[in-house]
Amino acid sequence: MAPELAGSQIVIELVYLIASVLFIFSLKWMSSPTTARHGIWAGEIGMLLAICGTLLHHGIVDYRLIAIGLVLGTIIGIPLGRVAMTAVPQRTALSHAFGALCVTLVGSAEYYLRTPSELPPFMMAVLSLEVILGGLTVTGSLMAAGKLQEILPQRPLTYKGQNLVNFALLACALAIAVSLVRNPGAHSLFPFMILIALAFGVLLIIPIGGADMPTVISLLNGYAGLSAAAMGFVLNSKLLIIAGALDGSSGLILSIIMSKAMNRSFTNVLFGAFGQVQTSHAAEEAKPVRSATPEEAAAILSAANRVIVVPGYGMAVAQAQHKVRELYDGLTKRGVDVRFAIHPVAGRMPGHMNVLLAEADIPYDRLVEMDEINGDFPQTDVALVIGANDVTNPAARSDTTSPIYGMPILDVDKAHTVMVIKRSMNPGFAGIDNPLYYLDNTLMLFGDAKAFVGSIVRELGGGHG
Ligand code: NDP
Repeated sequence: MAPELAGSQIVIELVYLIASVLFIFSLKWMSSPTTARHGIWAGEIGMLLAICGTLLHHGIVDYRLIAIGLVLGTIIGIPLGRVAMTAVPQRTALSHAFGALCVTLVGSAEYYLRTPSELPPFMMAVLSLEVILGGLTVTGSLMAAGKLQEILPQRPLTYKGQNLVNFALLACALAIAVSLVRNPGAHSLFPFMILIALAFGVLLIIPIGGADMPTVISLLNGYAGLSAAAMGFVLNSKLLIIAGALDGSSGLILSIIMSKAMNRSFTNVLFGAFGQVQTSHAAEEAKPVRSATPEEAAAILSAANRVIVVPGYGMAVAQAQHKVRELYDGLTKRGVDVRFAIHPVAGRMPGHMNVLLAEADIPYDRLVEMDEINGDFPQTDVALVIGANDVTNPAARSDTTSPIYGMPILDVDKAHTVMVIKRSMNPGFAGIDNPLYYLDNTLMLFGDAKAFVGSIVRELGGGHG
């Protein structure tokens, strides 16, 4: 290698090393709300360095196509970065689809550009893994995004022998991979392997219900990361191996955390066809519920000593977090002890509630995790549920026939008084009725979360209590 080439190679490796370290710190910092912003910066700077380092490669003969790619990517990326927080899961799924498409295309190009002698068994095996994982992630992520955006039906689409068909397809793709490892020159087989992977991605996702989609997206995140790590072996890029392994393992760990929080096994999420909309018996029988006005709710809250607020998906949709902050201020000023109970799957992604409440500058020490706060509900005067439903459903504790039986929940029903802000008696994401609403100590506060909390704040400001 000429000295100037060796010199630039050292610069590239150094830039990649710094980028890798930044990615590792990014994940570490993002695991705590106090350092999360640093984590985002570290990730962004790491990615910028990785792109710059790659542009220094001597193999690049023409920058024009790359420039077009960068402009196109920026044009698509800017609006994607501005979606509402409630749409982040489907937006993330789209990013996985783009990443996996890139991995599949690079893998295919590498296969056709190399002679069979340049594809020894290990290399061919890794390359096959790369395109199979990449291919199934492309279509799987598009299907998941479509279901969450409700472009595709959310309910599981099932048929007899479905799992068998899926396993048979995967086995075919793996069999082709084995033949290619033995004979890398069998060019005609390669497109079939990709086509089967693409079809497998669609068929894997259609039997999974909308309620499980965020977990599946996190799993697809894991697949996308693993395929990128495999690409790192093919391209001999340590940066890709490190970044892919970090991405892959964090995606898998996150899906395990989410499955645990819903008390579901991985296999049950993938093959259980959960999430069918259930008909609510209580709704059919139209059981009576007690409701209250903002004025009554304000009076009850200001007479309380201890209040636990339970936020959920509805608070996110209504963007009520800033009004909730005003409520917190108003009650705290009156000497009421106000804390927030955080369920691990409240909302539509892990940490959803933490992010929203942090956005409204609610002190971190007032946010208490489910396991820690559950014992305090019996000594709590008011549990104020704002747009949460499934995560407060007592059927998960007692009704063995309930689809969410066994899912850990916030024991709000044990508080002296429960007040629930939601717009109607409609079910939450799991599609099931909530017996909490018919209890004697429950008051329904019907209305949009932002508007209702705003009215309570006005009542409090008006000097009630
Ligand atoms: P739910 O989806 O159970 O309930 C949300 C409630 O908010 C609904 O009942 C709805 O009732 C109400 N709502 C909607 N819009 C508004 C509004 N503008 N104002 C007031 N209320 C509103 O949410 P939870 O947070 O309790 O539970 C999350 C669900 O998502 C769980 O089933 C969980 O398993 C699932 N999930 C979460 C994941 C995560 O990572 N967080 C991952 C995978 C699944 P109404 O229409 O009557 O207003």
